[in-house]
Amino acid sequence: MRYISTRGDATPRAFCEILLEGLAPDGGLYLPERYPRVDAATLSRWRGLSYADLAFEILSLYIDDIPAADLRALCRRTYTRDRFGSEAIVPLRGLEAGLSIEALSNGPTLAFKDMAMQLLGALFEYELARRGERLNILGATSGDTGSAAEYAMRGKRGVQVFMLSPHGRMSPFQQAQMYSLRDANIHNIAIEGVFDDCQDIVKAVSADLDFKRRHRIGSVNSINWARLLAQVVYYFAGWSQAASHGHERVSFAVPSGNFGNVCAGHIARMMGLPIGRLIVATNENDVLDEFFRSGRYRVRGAAETHETSSPSMDISKASNFERFAFDLLDRDAVRTRALFGALAAGEGGFSLDAATLERCSRDFGFVSGRSTHADRLATIRDAWQRHGTMIDPHTADGLKVARALRLPGERVVVLETALPVKFASTIVEALGREPERPAALAGIEALPRRVQVLPADAQRVKALIAAADVGA
Ligand SMILES: *Cc1c(COP(=O)(O)O)cnc(C)c1O
Repeated sequence: MRYISTRGDATPRAFCEILLEGLAPDGGLYLPERYPRVDAATLSRWRGLSYADLAFEILSLYIDDIPAADLRALCRRTYTRDRFGSEAIVPLRGLEAGLSIEALSNGPTLAFKDMAMQLLGALFEYELARRGERLNILGATSGDTGSAAEYAMRGKRGVQVFMLSPHGRMSPFQQAQMYSLRDANIHNIAIEGVFDDCQDIVKAVSADLDFKRRHRIGSVNSINWARLLAQVVYYFAGWSQAASHGHERVSFAVPSGNFGNVCAGHIARMMGLPIGRLIVATNENDVLDEFFRSGRYRVRGAAETHETSSPSMDISKASNFERFAFDLLDRDAVRTRALFGALAAGEGGFSLDAATLERCSRDFGFVSGRSTHADRLATIRDAWQRHGTMIDPHTADGLKVARALRLPGERVVVLETALPVKFASTIVEALGREPERPAALAGIEALPRRVQVLPADAQRVKALIAAADVGA
């Protein structure tokens, strides 16, 4: 399998060549040159597999430059009961007729990003050792991504993580989750500023190409192809649990921000998994809902990007959306480049014609809806009072939209993207009580912390990286 860019760079690249990369050199996103098709006989054989072995089967369709025995071992080490809390890894629980919830958030940081990030940690360590290289991951976080990256990379040989977060602005639980990690290769850096200051520092450091090369600076952002690929697996696992027979179609409702999660669903559907519809749920930051309703894709500026109670979906543009657009445009890289190459940060957009828009639902199964703070609270309350299940605000957005759009007889799986304990204040607002907390996380706020506070100054961050980069 070879990988190409959505913007036309057709240099064929193997999986491990793009594993440690973000964007393609031409600014596009990597996609496989084609989607392998999975037939009904294969699907039925896969139904009996453990999650780890299912992951191996799917990954090996896309990865031909890691020996099979090594890849299987990496999957088996990653997707364990110990790490994800159950044998099923992503267990389904029924809610009401036709609706169930697939738990993707029982990994180390209690959010679905662990599903991909944990595998990425194992793949990075493997590939860096094979090349005799090291990597310094630099990132900015306001919550979920940073902690998932740290828990994935902790103790991994050849990798260090430098994670910037806004000093004092994350929830007490999120701070405790990150800052209590004491592994030598994890560097928590609390910046005296807001999240945007953290992001500006990451940009400034990465723009210094000499520093970037000398210190092997990399990232683990949501456009990384390996992350997307790892996420394809739980659509297969969810379908297997929900479908009562081999041809039954199952739809998925996906709380969405950067379009990474639901893009993995699109890929699973292109592979032949019997997915009915892909129901995209947004919060008040409705870039995606606006597109699927009107054909208009419009990047938002800072003033129009709202801080909501489902903060991991607060986006101004959907970074993975270009991948789906490329498929929608029949993989016309010239058109994709024309549409996306001109989008500047914070502004710009395009409109597709009505016939192309119609193909989103007819040929690709996409529909969308939007959820607000009031919807979120009402949905959390309803799930708790009528079904005795506590859901987090992001999952509530998914459930709200699933209920609004579900057709008679349609079987819909809502993806649970985080556990409620991560967003305690919204749970208290909805239910008047504190969220449940997994026993292993009791009292983490009291653990000793490893964090350095720095002013919002890229030079200071560079100095810290240089001092810690022992391989340089
Ligand atoms: C990241 C995240 C999302 C959004 O996922 P995308 O892949 O960016 O669409 C939704 N919910 C939670 C809890 C998240 O952490």
